Amino acid sequence: MNTGTPEDPVSRIVFREVPKTVRTAFLLFLASTILAVIATNSFVLLGSPISSLSIFFEAMSFILAVYAGVLYLLARQKLSRWLGSQFYLLAILGLFQGGIFYAIAAYQLLSAGYWLRQASTGNGCRCVRDGENVVALGDAFPACPKCSRRASIGNDIPKRWYKTAVAAFIVGLAFLPLWILYPTLLGNVLVWYAGSRLLYDGGIFTFSKFALASYSGYVRFPPKTPSTDGESLLGNRN
Ligand SMILES: [Zn+2]
Repeated sequence: MNTGTPEDPVSRIVFREVPKTVRTAFLLFLASTILAVIATNSFVLLGSPISSLSIFFEAMSFILAVYAGVLYLLARQKLSRWLGSQFYLLAILGLFQGGIFYAIAAYQLLSAGYWLRQASTGNGCRCVRDGENVVALGDAFPACPKCSRRASIGNDIPKRWYKTAVAAFIVGLAFLPLWILYPTLLGNVLVWYAGSRLLYDGGIFTFSKFALASYSGYVRFPPKTPSTDGESLLGNRN
């Protein structure tokens, strides 16, 4: 269990949800490692030579799985702003590694990092849509008093990050006609790597936002509440 549970109810919810998100991310990193081992060994069985590049990616998948495991153990012990930054680093390394599981885990880690870094300062957490400070609805979840949107730790990322992902996806899509017109470009490892990362990572981030929208939803706040005290809003949740 976490030591030093914060006083602020929003931070308390964030601290409760972050370890669950990191556990999921760790399991996805672990699954990616197993897939990498299977893929590399299949190449060996099929008699094709393994490139030093695939050995590098396989080694990286081991390192990242261990890193994810350590962060999960730390998240169970003590949550901090520093740990939130580690989630960012792990997420970015996962995105460079490439693969569906890595991209999903990265998305969730970035969300966990975003909420944890704010919750650790004790100055409140901002709505991903409009930057308004969210309030806790009892022990259940935080919601934004401005846009009434329910906040979801592990599923919400700031709007500008999402826009960056969509832009990456569009640039990735632009690689497709390029590859069809100039197939020799596919032979270039760097072009293939950059194009596929932008396409897959950007695409999965774009898709995740819609896939995870069901976790969010809206709450109805009472009209013209004099205070934004979360406790007083409990009865108006729907
Ligand atoms: Zn809002």
